Amino acid sequence: MRVDNLTRVWYNSGAATALTVPPRGLERSDLPMHPQSTTSRDKKPRTLEERFHSGVDRSSGPDVCWPWMRAVNRQGYGEISVGSRTDGSRTLLRAHVLAYRLAFGDPPPDKPCILHSCDNPPCCNPRHLWAGTKADNIRDSVRKGRHRNSKRTHCPAGHPYDESNTYVYRGQRICKACRRKRRRRLDC
Ligand SMILES: [Zn+2]
Ligand SMILES: [Zn+2]
Repeated sequence: MRVDNLTRVWYNSGAATALTVPPRGLERSDLPMHPQSTTSRDKKPRTLEERFHSGVDRSSGPDVCWPWMRAVNRQGYGEISVGSRTDGSRTLLRAHVLAYRLAFGDPPPDKPCILHSCDNPPCCNPRHLWAGTKADNIRDSVRKGRHRNSKRTHCPAGHPYDESNTYVYRGQRICKACRRKRRRRLDC
């Protein structure tokens, strides 16, 4: 799908919700009577697509990241629930996967993993998403993990990863202070 078509699809699907306000000069009472009260109409369940669109911040423009503004999981990926709690059918979908599927359809069966070219987990901009194989997914997360760890300046206990306190074993940095503590524990 061409990029301008894509934009039209995305923005048009958001437009339906804006029409709940009557046009200028036309009061709500002029509109045909609705069998339901205003409150129950406001509670009308929105479609998954509507809920999804209202959770994405596209305000910075078409080419930058579109962050998910609602719940995220521990890895920072956006989550949106589907199904109902009452019948136990409720599950969580990843927002960026839904973003991909709404824009491009389901990924090909041999490329089931939706990956970010921008390395920004909450991003839902379909231009930053690509479908990869399981091997692509592993490669991608290993690369990101390495990237994250190399930026870390302190061990999990808060000791600095400086020259005197760092021991490198198989490419991994090990905190000497923590290693000493572990050894002492083993001694007694
Ligand atoms: Zn992005
Ligand atoms: Zn340490």
